[in-house]
Formats: sequence, C-alpha cells, structure tokens
Amino acid sequence: MMFNTLGLPAPLVQAVRAAGWSEPTAIQSKAIPVILQGNDLIGNAPSGSGKTGAFLLPGFARLLDGPQKLRALVLTPTREHATQVETHARDFARFTELRVGISHMGAPLVVQEKMLRDQGVDVLIATVDRLLELHERKAMDFEDVEILVLDEADRMVDMGQATDIRKLLKLLPETRQTLLFSASMPAELNRLAKEALIEPVRVDLTSPQPSTGITHAIYQVPKHLKIQLLDRLLSRSGEVRSTIVFTRQREGADRLARQLERLKYAVATLHERKSQTERERAMEDLKRGRLQIVVTTDLAARGLELAGVAHVVNFDVPPTPEDYVHRIGRAGRPDAQGDAFTLMAPEEQRHLAAIERFVGRAIPRVLLPDFDYLLKPSQIQQTAIYDDERVRARKAALAKNPYLQGRQTMPLAGTPRPSANTQRHRAAASASSRPKPAASAPAVARMKPKGIAVKVNPVAKPVVKPAPVKPVTKKAAVPKKPAPKKAPPAKNKK
Ligand code: AMP
Repeated sequence: MMFNTLGLPAPLVQAVRAAGWSEPTAIQSKAIPVILQGNDLIGNAPSGSGKTGAFLLPGFARLLDGPQKLRALVLTPTREHATQVETHARDFARFTELRVGISHMGAPLVVQEKMLRDQGVDVLIATVDRLLELHERKAMDFEDVEILVLDEADRMVDMGQATDIRKLLKLLPETRQTLLFSASMPAELNRLAKEALIEPVRVDLTSPQPSTGITHAIYQVPKHLKIQLLDRLLSRSGEVRSTIVFTRQREGADRLARQLERLKYAVATLHERKSQTERERAMEDLKRGRLQIVVTTDLAARGLELAGVAHVVNFDVPPTPEDYVHRIGRAGRPDAQGDAFTLMAPEEQRHLAAIERFVGRAIPRVLLPDFDYLLKPSQIQQTAIYDDERVRARKAALAKNPYLQGRQTMPLAGTPRPSANTQRHRAAASASSRPKPAASAPAVARMKPKGIAVKVNPVAKPVVKPAPVKPVTKKAAVPKKPAPKKAPPAKNKK
C-alpha cells in the first residue's frame, strides 16, 4: 500500500515522500482512513510503530482548508516527546500553510505567550500543565479546537496527569474529534477514555515488542572498554556493513566517530545541524555500502528512513524503554532481520530493568570469550598497540577493494561470503585459541528467552600476538610485560 491510496491530500503525500517514507506502517494504514472520516479513535500502538504519522497526517488533512486558528492540540507526557512530535509535525506541514507550535514547562512562559499572541498557531503540541497555565493567564483559549490527540496516554496517566487532562477536557468544545494513542490501557486510562471519546473506533496493533527478526543482546562492559568491545563486535564477522550506532549526546557521537575513523572504519556522523538532504545522503551511502557505520543520536536520526539497516548498536543504554524500542524499530521493520547490540556499563544497569519490563522479556547477556574485560584504563594504550595489527590488516583489505580506494568505503549489496577455505582456516585458527569458559562465565546468562534468538559469539577470534611494545605517547606508561592476553571475564551481575 502507498500513502497516496489512503486519501491524504497532495501536500501531505509530498511531505511524506520528502521524509523518505515509501509505505505506511500498519498503524498508519489502519488509523489514517478512520481519522479522515472524522471518527474518534483509540490506537493501541507503542513507540516506534509510526503512530505519530498516524495521527498527524490525517489530522493535518482535516485542517488544510479552514481559518487560521488554534484548531488542533496534541498532548504529550513529556517535553522531550513533545519535541519529537513537533519535528514530525514541522516536516509534514512544510508544503502547507499550517503553523505548528510547541509549549511545555521547559520553555520560558513569556516567550510562549508572545508566540501565541504574535504568530498564532494552528496546531499546538504541548504538555498539559503548561496548557492549563497559559489558559489561566488568558494567553489562549480553546474554543476553536477541532482535534485533540492524547499521545502516549498511558504514560500521561502513569505520571499523574489524569486530573489535569480532565480539567482541560472541560475547556474544549464537545464537538471535537478525539484521538487517543497508548501502548497499554490501564483501568484509569479506560475511565478517562470513556469521558473523553465518543464511540471510538479501536485500532489494535498486536505486539509492543521490537521486531522478532532482530537478535537482541546486552554486552556488559566497563565504560572505558566500550570502544574496544565495539571494535571487536564489529570486526568479528569479517566484513562490517550497514551498522548504525546510537549515542545519547551529539558530543559523544562525534567522539566515537573519530575513534572509529582512527580504527579505519568508513564512518559518518549524523548531526542535528546537518540538513535533511545531507542526512539522507549519509543513510543512502550506508545502505549502498559506501559507508560502513553511521554514528547518530536519537535526535539526529529522527525522521530518517532507516529500514534496511542490518545492525543497530546502542553504545549507551537508551535512557527510556521507548527509546530502546524506537531505535531497534528503525532496523526492525516487521519483516527485518538484524542484530541489536547494547553495550552496558555497570552504572547503566538501572535503565535496562525498565527496558526489559517494557518489552516484557529478558534480553540475553552475552560475553565475548576472547575479550579482556579486566583491562584497566592504564593498560588500554598498550592494547591499542597490538590492535594496530588488526587495524593495519583491515586497512590493507580495504585498500584492495576498488570501491574503497581513496574513500574508505565498501560495497554492501552482495557482499561476498568468505570462501570455504577461508572459513575452514578461520574455524581451525579459532578452535586452537578458543578460551575455556572462565569461572565466572555462568554468572552471565546464556539464556534463550522466548521469542529471542540468542547469539552468543560461539568462536573466539584468533588471538593476535602482541607486537613489540613501544611507547605510543609520552603519557603512556610502558609496562615491562605485555598485558595478559586473556583474563577472566568480569563478574557481571545480571
Ligand atoms: P513513531 O512511532 O511515530 O515515533 O515513529 C518511529 C520511527 O519510525 C520514526 O523515526 C519515524 O520517522 C519512522 N517512521 C514512521 N512511519 C514511517 C514510515 N511509514 N516509513 C518509514 N519510517 C517511518
């Protein structure tokens, strides 16, 4: 199915194309026609399912012809979520006259009052507390509101916003259309829905899980060893391709991209400050194999069509479960196959529990058998010396590839599999160097929870012999002995 078969007007179909979306997601194809007909709707849809488009596109379609007044309100539980919705809204409004605004407690009240007074908005994305405050200060009224969206309504109720929502409902015209999107329907939300909606059509998406075609794994690792572990993970399958690495902050993304470049990966950063065209080009290069890795933040990757990405790596544990599903959802279009690795430092453990609760299952913890988890920060410089050998080998391999000459790029489509001989050779080399499970290994769950394909790296890579130790920088201490090649893995608490 295509967007232009859903009954959306041309400027919106054009905006969807410009965003790089080719086909509607399940929630979009089900909800858009229902909303276009003017029905109230309850959409059971988690983050990452494309629900924002499912309400914004038909909502905008209904507002296209009409006076310039505040006619649609989108309520979100948090200011962060409001910002995400606003970005989509601005993208969709770009070929229309619709004016989009945002309002939440994080922005100065006077600035928002000025925006409402001087510019006016047709669609306001807001948190309920700020809306009520603006109303009390007589900065706005709601008498022309035709559409109310309650987005992530279960989170709003969880966060104690039900009372404020009820106050707001009393201020809105009864004739409005109300759309409620939620990943779950707790009792309190059911009660609220009965008060807010009239004969709603229900659209249920069956599973709040990330795609089952994706292999999920958590790699527990001290923070200072994350880059080393990532390098091992990336290089263990021989060819690195189509990988997107998420970090929380832009600065972290830049730093990581520089480190990966030094390790001779063909890498780009998706920057919030880069234009949509530049970002789309980077993604195209990734898909075509001209880039191996794109490092990005949630904010920068928003609005990009990332379907087809084979590997998603969370360099940091995402701060909220929704972010996790969101990131994985990018690779995990319903029929997608791929890996989703999360590198977790001990201090990030608390975020993981919330993620596992949200997705309703445990995510397997995996150890790389030949990785030295006990390496101290002071020893890393030395490892870098013998890692250099791998890097040199990688550089040499890349240089032989005609696609990469001068560009550090490699082909994606039809990436040749290693020959049978190479595979045998690798297997033999690995078998001889495969470490015995360390005493603490059982502490790491090698479990296979229902519905998740567990991928414990089965074979250690051949251990590369340390090169003669040379000081790399003045600061780097030169140990008398090379660091131990193998040390027992850290005791990872589940
Ligand atoms: P949402 O669930 O609305 O937060 O969307 C999750 C992610 O999927 C966002 O990054 C959207 O840009 C992306 N997305 C939503 N709908 C589509 C679509 N039809 N095609 C491709 N990507 C989409």
